[in-house]
Amino acid sequence: MTEPARILVVGGGYVGMYTALRLQRKLRRGEAEVVVISPDPYMTYQPFLPEAAAGSIAPAHVIVPLRRVLPRCQVVVGEVLRIDHAKRTAYVCTPATRTEGGGDTELRYDELVLAPGSVSRTLPIPGLAESGIGFKTVEEAVGLRNHVLEQLDIASSTRDVEVRDAALTFVFVGGGFAGVEALGELEDIARYATRHYHNVDADDMRWVLVEAADRILPEVGEELGRYAVRELRGRNVDVRLETRLTSCEKRVAVLSDGARFPTRTVVWTAGVKPHPLIAATGLPSDPHGRLRVTAALQLDGAEHAWAAGDAAAVPDLTAEQPGAQCAPNAQHAVRQGKVLADNIIATLRGSRPEEYQHVSVGSVASLGLHKGVAHLYGRKVKGYPAWLMHRVYHLSRLPTANRKARVLADWTLAALFKREIAALGSLENPRAEFEFAAGTGRQPDA
Ligand SMILES: Cc1cc2nc3c(=O)[nH]c(=O)nc-3n(C[C@H](O)[C@H](O)[C@H](O)COP(=O)(O)OP(=O)(O)OC[C@H]3O[C@@H](n4cnc5c(N)ncnc54)[C@H](O)[C@@H]3O)c2cc1C
Repeated sequence: MTEPARILVVGGGYVGMYTALRLQRKLRRGEAEVVVISPDPYMTYQPFLPEAAAGSIAPAHVIVPLRRVLPRCQVVVGEVLRIDHAKRTAYVCTPATRTEGGGDTELRYDELVLAPGSVSRTLPIPGLAESGIGFKTVEEAVGLRNHVLEQLDIASSTRDVEVRDAALTFVFVGGGFAGVEALGELEDIARYATRHYHNVDADDMRWVLVEAADRILPEVGEELGRYAVRELRGRNVDVRLETRLTSCEKRVAVLSDGARFPTRTVVWTAGVKPHPLIAATGLPSDPHGRLRVTAALQLDGAEHAWAAGDAAAVPDLTAEQPGAQCAPNAQHAVRQGKVLADNIIATLRGSRPEEYQHVSVGSVASLGLHKGVAHLYGRKVKGYPAWLMHRVYHLSRLPTANRKARVLADWTLAALFKREIAALGSLENPRAEFEFAAGTGRQPDA
C-alpha cells in the first residue's frame, strides 16, 4: 500500500487556514495528510484588529483556533526557519525546542504550500526600532489599547506640562487600512474615555496621521480618500499628507515638514513586506521579495510547491495593464487559498490546475464608531451607512458561525451598555503583583 502524500502548509493565516479547510473537506480518506504549521495556534482576522483595539470586540473573538476548525489536519505550532525544497524538508523551531533547546525539527513533505504572509515594512529611521509600535497582531492591538488608555492616566496624574503633552500626543505613520482604521477607532475610544476624567478633555489630546503620499486609503479610491481626510480633520486629527517621519528618538517625533511632536506613542503602519522566511527558502522571488508564482499559484520553476497571499506575486489576470499583480489583501488571500487547495487536489488526481482570477469587489473601512467609507460593488458610501456596510461585510466574511455569533454578541453588548475604558496595564507584566507579595519585586505599577 502506498503512503498518503503529505501536504505541508506553512502559515495559519488567511491562505493557510482556507487552503487547509478546503483540503480537509475535499480530500478523500487516505488520499493525503495535511500538516499546518504556524507560530500561533490561531488565525487572526486582521480587519477586526482596530475594533479589538477599541474594545468593541473581545480579542479572543477576532481569532479562529486552528485545532478547532481543522480537526482532520495536523496542526503544529512552530516556526519554519528554512526549507530545502530539493530534499522536500522543512526545518522547524517549535515552542519545545525554543524553551528546552535541542535541534530544529525536520518535517518531510510531498507538496509545499508557502503562506507566511508579510511583516511590517520598517525603515532605518532613528528611534523607530526601539520605540515604534506595530499593528499586525492581536497582541499588538490589545497592547496599543492599554497603552493609549494608560496615557490618559499618566496625563491625569501629573502636573508636569511636558509629560502631560507627550502622553496626550499620538502619532500614527501610514495612511492605509491599518493606520487609518487603528487611529480612527482609538481616537474614538480615547475621546469617549476622557468624559470620565476630571482633568483631561478630548481637546487636550493631539492625534497626528503622517502619510508620505498625497492621499490616504488608496484602496477606497480618491473621492472617498479625500472624504476620510475631511472627516478626520473635522475631529481635530492633524492629517499631514506628503510628509514622512524622519526620527523618533528620545520621545520626540520629527517630521519631514519640520514639525516636532514630543510623544510617547508612535504607531508604525507604513506598509508591509514579504516575510523574511521567503529569502531563507532560496525559492524564486521577484525584486520585491515576493515568491514568483504562475496564475495557477504554482511556484515558477519549482515543482510541488505552491504559494499565495501577501507572500506571493500572483499575476492579476483581470487587470488591463499586462504584468499587474494582485494586491496583498484579505479579499485575494481567501479566494487564492481555495483555488490553491483545488489545484493541489487536481494535480494529485492527474488533472490540470486552474488559473486564479478575481475582480475586486471593492473595499470598506471604519473611521471609528458609526463612521466609515465604503466602495463596494461600484457603490460609494460615506458615514454611518458605510460603517454599517463595513460591519455587515466583515461579519459575513468572518470564518465560522461560532465567531460570527460571538462578535455579534460583543457589538450588541457594547451598544446596550457603556464602553470599557480601563487600561489593563499589568497584562504586560502579570507576575509583578506576585513578585511584590513574595518580596522579590517592586510594588506593581510603581
Ligand atoms: C490591521 C490590518 C487591517 C487589515 N484590513 C484589511 C481589510 O479591511 N481588507 C483586506 O482585504 N485586507 C486587510 N488587511 C490585509 C490582510 O489581513 C492580509 O492581506 C492577509 O492577512 C494576507 O493573508 P496571508 O495568508 O498571506 O497572511 P497572514 O494572514 O498574515 O498569515 C500568515 C501566517 O503565516 C504565519 N507565519 C509567519 N511566519 C511563519 C513561519 N516562519 N513559519 C510558519 N508560519 C509562519 C503567521 O503567523 C500567520 O499565521 C489588513 C491587515 C492588517 C494588519
